[in-house]
Parts: sequence; structure tokens; C-alpha cells
Amino acid sequence: MEETSLLSLPEGMLIEQIQITENGVIVAVVATSSTSCCPLCSEPSSSIHCHYRRTLRDVPCAGRRVQLFLTVRKFSCRNPLCERKVFTERLPAFVEPWARMTIRYCEQITSIGLATCGKGGVRLAARLGIHTTRQTILRRIMELPDTPAGVILFLGIDDFSFQRGYRFGTILVNLESRRVVDLLPDREAETSAAWMRQQPDLMAVSRDRGGAYASAATQGAPQAIQCADRFHVLKNLGEAVEGFLAHHLAAHHKQQMQALLDEQTPVWQPKRAIRSSPKLEHLQHARSEERLAHYEQVMALRKQGLSQQAIAQRVGVGHSTVSNWLAAGTFPERKPREQASHLDRYLPYLVLRWENGCHNIACLFRELAEQGYKGSYESVRDNLVRLLPAGRKNAVGPSPKAPALATSRQAAFLFLRRPETLRAQEQETLVKLRQIDPEVERAYDLVQQFAHMLRTRTGECLDAWLDLVEHSKLPELQSFAAGIQKDIDAVRAGLTWWINNGMVEGHVTKLKLIKRQGYGKAGFPLLRKRVLHAV
Ligand SMILES: [Zn+2]
Repeated sequence: MEETSLLSLPEGMLIEQIQITENGVIVAVVATSSTSCCPLCSEPSSSIHCHYRRTLRDVPCAGRRVQLFLTVRKFSCRNPLCERKVFTERLPAFVEPWARMTIRYCEQITSIGLATCGKGGVRLAARLGIHTTRQTILRRIMELPDTPAGVILFLGIDDFSFQRGYRFGTILVNLESRRVVDLLPDREAETSAAWMRQQPDLMAVSRDRGGAYASAATQGAPQAIQCADRFHVLKNLGEAVEGFLAHHLAAHHKQQMQALLDEQTPVWQPKRAIRSSPKLEHLQHARSEERLAHYEQVMALRKQGLSQQAIAQRVGVGHSTVSNWLAAGTFPERKPREQASHLDRYLPYLVLRWENGCHNIACLFRELAEQGYKGSYESVRDNLVRLLPAGRKNAVGPSPKAPALATSRQAAFLFLRRPETLRAQEQETLVKLRQIDPEVERAYDLVQQFAHMLRTRTGECLDAWLDLVEHSKLPELQSFAAGIQKDIDAVRAGLTWWINNGMVEGHVTKLKLIKRQGYGKAGFPLLRKRVLHAV
């Protein structure tokens, strides 16, 4: 009896003998209940027809493999109306009628498979005293029954990629029970709509701002309120603000550089000496900042879908520069200019000629070339222009010593965050940013109003906000507002209701982990089972 409870056998089973061998433990068990029910007519019978033995694998005991020699009986059905004359004894919670493993042994294999993967599962199981194969583990997972989704009132829907950027599926989450209720093999509107039609109780669907899930909800759950996910809305606003700030920061850097140029007095000395001048370092810094700001503006406009030519025109850089930047993918740091060093030894000659009254750059370039100068015309021209006396250009902009404020992305981030959570340094940057231009200040107010509305879920203020933007003369925000107008009901609901897709995103992260546990090899059906039964 004690042994029975040690091995945790169900009632009506008795251990007859335990034998320890090299390979593990063999336990002889007999079934002892006096009656058994006929599986066909459910009538109990106590009439034993015969005995027979089944060999079963059971869960390991202290790391040893366990084999059960189970003696069970066949009973005769005494119900004259029943077709079944003889039936085998059933042990429903312990072993299936024809199985060669106990149910708890199968469950352990399944749990190991769900927590790891086919191959990893085999290795882990072996360490735990369970000898199995990859195929068995995968079959166990595939045999898991789908649990019914039940009544879903609040649904979160999003896509996930199961071959990065190439094949996508859809994940559906019950936002109340916080569980994944299904995975769909694609992200087509029709597939999701068909699924939603089977959920007539759906009250609200939280989705991204993509068109497919919007139309899926419209078709499949017309009764449900659609909520545009707050995070996606904020991300869209962030992108609009980034474009806006890239534009203003570029103009700001240009002003800064202009001011530095204007302050630059003619310094006719070899380049090394010029380089050590702090003013020139400021100048170089400002140039590189301006270039970065241009780069960011190019990237922001590209995201908005503008052609390379249109981008070149709007940003004011060459078409080939735009094309090179887009091809490079990251910000290409400018290579140090080598031509400039060619010019160093000719600078005294240039000074002399300039002071003698020759201000024709083409002429000076020709003279240098004759003396063996191998650098470019542009290098001569740029160096001369850079060293021109002050007064030739209009001094504008703030102090040239003002450091670069931030990249447009950093600036956009500062715009979106709660001001009270910013560190002192960030607050300082923000103040400077807002002082660049009255338009920037206006944009900051509008962005903060929107962010506040989103945080306090006061979607009823949306229309008033859109009105303000319409009259703001801020094209980037106006284009964001136009996007909202196309989906206004869902955005308003998203800004008002408690539901959002944060939980769905969390499940997508978990799904990615599960996908990688199988080395990304699992097909959709296996991935679906693993996600739905994830522990
Ligand atoms: Zn029967």
C-alpha cells in the first residue's frame, strides 16, 4: 500500500513486485477493482472473462526508467441488449486502452517538448530518465487538442513574421483572459474576418493602424468597436514630429554655420595651424551637424514615400548625395579631405597673390596647377571662401558657440515624453529646441496636448485638437492629422478605451522566442500548437 502511494498509482491498482535491474525499475501491478463498466452500454460487470498483461512505460523514479507489467482483466458484458460480449478493463485516468505509455508519461514528454523543442527536448528528456525521439515529441505536441476559444468580448489582433519580412501570420489575443486564442497562417483581411465571424459576441477589436485588420473587423465583426492601438498612433506622431524637427534642425544648423563663417576672419596660415583654431573646429562641427541633419531629413522624407528627386529638392542637396545616402543605409561619415593638405604648401603663394589684388579664383587655380598643385578647383575655392573677410555675408543666427542640440530622432523623443520625467540635461535641450523657432514651440504644445490626451484617455478632445492642427500651418502635423481623419472613429476609441495592443505585442515577443527555440524550423501548424499551449 505504501509502495502504491509512493508510485502514485490510482485506486484499484496494487503493486505485486518491484524489481531493480540494470536498465531501471520493473514494477508488477495488478488491477483489483471488482467491477468494470462496459464501454458500449456503461453497465457494470463483475464477470471476469480472462487476465492478460500489458507492458507500459511510466514516469521515471529518481532518475531510473520505470516499466510497468500491468495485469488487467477482460470482463463479460451481462447486458443482453448490448452487442459487446467481452470488453477490456478501462483505467481512464491512467492509461489509454491500446497505449504503451501511461498518460502521465505522455504528458511529461509533451511538457518537455513545449518548453524546449524536438531535438532539445530529446536531450533534456534523456537527462531526466525519459527515452524518447524527436518525432514522438513533435507528434505529442501536434496531438494536443485545440481548447475552445470560448466567448471573447475584447480581441487584440496583430501580425507577426515567421520568416523575417517574408511570411507573416496573425496573432489573436483575448484581452480579458490575456491568452492567445489563435494564430492564423497569413495576415489577409479575409482570413481574419472569417475567424471573427465565428465570434458573434465581439465587442471591441484592438488593432494596429494597418488597413487589413481594419477591414477584417469591419467585415467580420461589424458590431464591434474598433480601437486603433495607442502605441501605433504615438509612433506615427513621433515620425511626423521627427520629419518636422529634421527640417527645422537643418535650418538651425545652417544658420549656425553661416554665423561661424561670418565670424571667421582671414587667417592665412598653413592648414595645421588653422585646424587647431577652436573657431574652425566649431565650424567643422557645425558642418558635420548640418550634414547629419540633412541626412535625417532625407531619411524622414523617404519614409513618407517621396521620390529621390523630390527629396533632393526639398532638402537642398544633390540628387547623387540622396541616392548615395539611401544606398548606404546608415549615416556615412565624411572621409577626411586629402585635397586640403595638397593646398597647404601653396597657401603662402595664394596669400601673396590675393594681397596683390588677384581675386579671380579660376586664375589662381590655374597658376597653382602650373606650379604642380594636384588638388581640386573646389578645394581652392572652398578654402578661399572660408577665409574671406567678414562682412561679405549677413550675420544671422545664434551664437556660433552653441553646441549641436540633438538629432531629429532624439528631439522627437523629447517632444513626446512627459516633461516632468526628463533629466535636467534633457530639459535644457528641450528648452533650446523650443526656442529655435516659434513654429517649433507651437508644434511642441500640440504634441504635448496629444500625448496628454493619450495618457489620460480623453479621446473626446480629439476633434478640438485636430481643429488646432488644421489652423497651425505645420504641414507635418497636418499630414499626421489627415491620416487620423481617415480612421478617426478607431483612433478616438483607442484614445478613450482601456484596451490596447500592448499585451498582443508581449505575446508576439513570446512567440518569437518559441519560434527560435525550434531554430525557426517549425512550420505554421506546429508553431500554432506550441504558442496556443505555451506554458
Ligand atoms: Zn455492454
